[in-house]
Amino acid sequence: IQDVSKVYQTVEGTLTILNEVNLELKRGEALAITGPSGSGKSTLLYIIGTLENPTTGTVQLNGQNPFELKPAEQAMFRNHEIGFIFQDHHLLPQCSVLENVLIPTLVDKGATKEKTELAKSLLDRVDLTKRIEHRPAQLSGGERQRVAVCRALINNPTVLLADEPTGNLDPRTAEAIGSLLLEIGKEQNTILVCVTHSETLAERFEFRQELSDGKLNVLATGSASVYSEGTKA
Ligand code: ATP
Ligand code: MG
Repeated sequence: IQDVSKVYQTVEGTLTILNEVNLELKRGEALAITGPSGSGKSTLLYIIGTLENPTTGTVQLNGQNPFELKPAEQAMFRNHEIGFIFQDHHLLPQCSVLENVLIPTLVDKGATKEKTELAKSLLDRVDLTKRIEHRPAQLSGGERQRVAVCRALINNPTVLLADEPTGNLDPRTAEAIGSLLLEIGKEQNTILVCVTHSETLAERFEFRQELSDGKLNVLATGSASVYSEGTKA
């Protein structure tokens, strides 16, 4: 991500949410983004996930700038390359758990036998085998979040984005979801970017940055011996 800015024009005037943000991550790296409410964390995640355009600046993933693609190609790119776990899960209420996990496959060949088997094995991994025919309303908050994790993983994305995935969960469930994301990120060599208000969760990430005043500030890098000024390990 190079010099990405996001500016809104409102009745009160110009609102700069992101101010020339730079970020570079490689496969297998896991970054936690913290920062005050309203600092632009979700906005940044949406831009990385091609769900929101930057005002200026460029985004590149595997050598491709997704914002240069035509809408249909961009949708395909997003479904292949990006897994998104939303703050409020965004499961479709009328679909079963299994159908929800298979949604990202629909732009492609659809719910093939292979993808259906993968969905079932992902759901088994998060202990939801007995819930595959349930509707989201019949699940607990933690169970819904686990379905959202499976849906984000169904196309084996290059980038896994999680927006406060443990926000509404009890500490134990939150820890389990955090572990799952970190484990799967490593296993699948994914770039994991997780926005969180939880210090406990953030501390489990090798890379940590804080968003404030439109800028990303490095709190911890992957190498244990290198920290930005003012940060105590
Ligand atoms: P939280 O921790 O509460 O989830 P956040 O860091 O994720 O906050 P964002 O949702 O990215 O914050 O919002 C950043 C800022 O951008 C907020 O002040 C919000 O009001 C503003 N904002 C978002 N969308 C628009 C819009 N369409 N027009 C004007 N301002 C907007
Ligand atoms: Mg947010």
